[in-house]
Amino acid sequence: MGLSKEELERYSRQIVLKEMGIDGQRRLKEARVCIAGVGGLGSTSALQFAAMGVGYLRLVDHDIVELTNLHRQTLYETRFLGYPKVEVAAERLKAINPNIEIEPMPITINASSAEKVVDGMDLIVDGLDRLAPRYAINRACLKLKVPYVFAAALEIYGNVSTILPGKTACLECFMGRLSDEGLPTCETVGVFPPILSIVASIEVREAVSLILGREPSLANKFLFCDIGSMSFETFQVTRVSTCPACGESSKPLSLEEPRIAELCGGNSIMISPRIPTSLDLEETAKVLEGNFRIRVQGRLGLTFDYSEGVSVSLMKSGSMLIKGIGKKEEALRIYDSLMGLLPLKSKVH
Ligand SMILES: [Zn+2]
Repeated sequence: MGLSKEELERYSRQIVLKEMGIDGQRRLKEARVCIAGVGGLGSTSALQFAAMGVGYLRLVDHDIVELTNLHRQTLYETRFLGYPKVEVAAERLKAINPNIEIEPMPITINASSAEKVVDGMDLIVDGLDRLAPRYAINRACLKLKVPYVFAAALEIYGNVSTILPGKTACLECFMGRLSDEGLPTCETVGVFPPILSIVASIEVREAVSLILGREPSLANKFLFCDIGSMSFETFQVTRVSTCPACGESSKPLSLEEPRIAELCGGNSIMISPRIPTSLDLEETAKVLEGNFRIRVQGRLGLTFDYSEGVSVSLMKSGSMLIKGIGKKEEALRIYDSLMGLLPLKSKVH
């Protein structure tokens, strides 16, 4: 794939790098990278990949932009509160670099959607904030043999490990016994923004090594960063023969991925559709307008006030984020009643 005169000038300060050259820049242009989650980690990695000229970026996230995101999620602006993150991110990245292609995917990552997320990608970069979707991505990456740069960051701590299917330890080899239950979240312990840029930059470094055909530094290694004491330590990890994901007698993902997930932050519940759906959002808005005040109408999702203190964001994919509600049963009732309101013609399967 050739580089235009504009691209040669745009990337000149990295083409001159010893490890890059014009050949490396071409490889970046040909690369297809998926950023799973465009929150704190994904904001930084997406901006770097886009600016550096990675040719195809798939952005996956089911969330909307909220006020509590803005201190750390540098892709977003105050004026985009309530919009689907992938929609805003795609436009921002395209404005930074019009030479690249961006695919926004406003869906929930779980056991049933993970293969669709991974399929056709050269590598997956972690921007997730829970373990359940990471396990689903890990399984899909093992099956489709796609490298996965795992990362997590919270408070002032971060982790990174690069997983090469069939070659290195996978996520379940070194994390398999942990689950989301009882783990701290960004809401309970907070996130210091610098840890996100550091960890995401390390992910980008690993990803670029893979794209350039170099040995990644964190294959079979687990990096632990603590920017309180400014220590960066790596631990060896090894494949476990009894690993339920990549071991000799692998078992299906033991966690039954629920359709309903509680998100980090303020009584938020995400419900995925029973079957994959593509909503006609204009038709949907027409129906909802009769009953509710629509606050945001984006291309890939809309947000409206459902009742006092409860807001609903409905994505084109049929995923629904209900905020201001703590009970899953009640969220499900709202989901079913709203989906029941929509005429068949707004549901394009
Ligand atoms: Zn494993």
